[in-house]
Amino acid sequence: MQALTNRKRVLVTGGAGFLGSHLCERLLAAGNDVLCVDNFFTGSRDNVLHLLDDPHFELMRHDVTFPLYVEVDEIYNLACPASPIHYQHDPVQTTKTSVIGAINMLGLAKRVHARIMQASTSEVYGDPAVHPQPEEYWGNVNTIGPRACYDEGKRCAETLFFDYHRQHRLDIKVIRIFNTYGPRMHPSDGRVVSNFIIQALKGEPITIYGDGQQTRSFCYVDDLIEGFLRFMDTPAGATGPINLGNPGEFTMLELAEKVIRLTGSASTIEHMPLPQDDPKQRRPDIAKARAMMQWEPAVPLDEGLDRTIAYFRGRFFA
Ligand code: NAD
Ligand code: UDP
Repeated sequence: MQALTNRKRVLVTGGAGFLGSHLCERLLAAGNDVLCVDNFFTGSRDNVLHLLDDPHFELMRHDVTFPLYVEVDEIYNLACPASPIHYQHDPVQTTKTSVIGAINMLGLAKRVHARIMQASTSEVYGDPAVHPQPEEYWGNVNTIGPRACYDEGKRCAETLFFDYHRQHRLDIKVIRIFNTYGPRMHPSDGRVVSNFIIQALKGEPITIYGDGQQTRSFCYVDDLIEGFLRFMDTPAGATGPINLGNPGEFTMLELAEKVIRLTGSASTIEHMPLPQDDPKQRRPDIAKARAMMQWEPAVPLDEGLDRTIAYFRGRFFA
């Protein structure tokens, strides 16, 4: 159904989570009506509290594994726990959220003729044998390991998006997000950036899993959201998948040293066992994003960490 105003009606599933809350903020600032749908599994009302008084913002408690009947013009499908401890807490529900959630949101997009974006992940590459990872790489995923509920759920969601595109001519956009950090990360989600910052601010040992030589590439949240918006505005047919992430690559040992220096903490480093199937290396090849939409991250790791440290200090240590 066509909207009666010029404002675009945008649905963000998982909108009360870390990335979703930043996305809702940017969409409102750009003059859209935003419908934020979340079951509050890992997200919270606190993340969007500052948006609740905006008449163009609506918050709905809903689980995407159940059908949703709303009228919207655009959909960003972010609903899914993202940190390993959260998605491994109830692995069956994680797969259901990715797969049944995708089917429900694709069905909605089909009914209302909405453009739909899927928040996929670098985890579709698993423990990659190709480095850095281009979109053409098919990945190296253990189908029966503890990360599979997330990795395979996201891979199947990508399959569904492309089948809806081919079979029903749906206007799809698939982004593969690499590790992203920033304010409003869940303080106990166990992800490396939030863990290290909280440990440093408490003066507790920084927990490095394994020898700390595994690498990740960290993208500041504002850069990532800019990539979301630019890709959503590319012409129909530009389906992706497209990598979004910061190509700067760091070992976990380097990250720990940075966090200790930037917080001025006296924390020491403690080594703990490496979790099963932990990818040894990860860095996005972002040539496609650069060429297609002149996008690349602008915030260096030290600056992004400074902002994230300021957030955690203000929120939990004031
Ligand atoms: P998050 O856990 O903060 O946000 C996920 C949101 O989805 C939460 O608000 C949660 O309550 C909600 N949710 C979970 N299951 C749901 C369900 N069944 N129905 C409705 N809502 C549900 O994580 P995030 O970092 O903001 O990640 C958002 C998306 O981006 C996820 O799909 C994730 O897989 C993807 N992603 C994130 C990263 C990253 O580094 N942050 C990297 C790759 C992919
Ligand atoms: N990691 C770590 N200490 C921590 C938390 C994580 O050394 O306290 C490591 C983890 O083993 C992985 C990397 O940091 O190699 C990134 O972990 P995270 O859970 O943030 O993301 P993902 O593994 O999904 O990329």
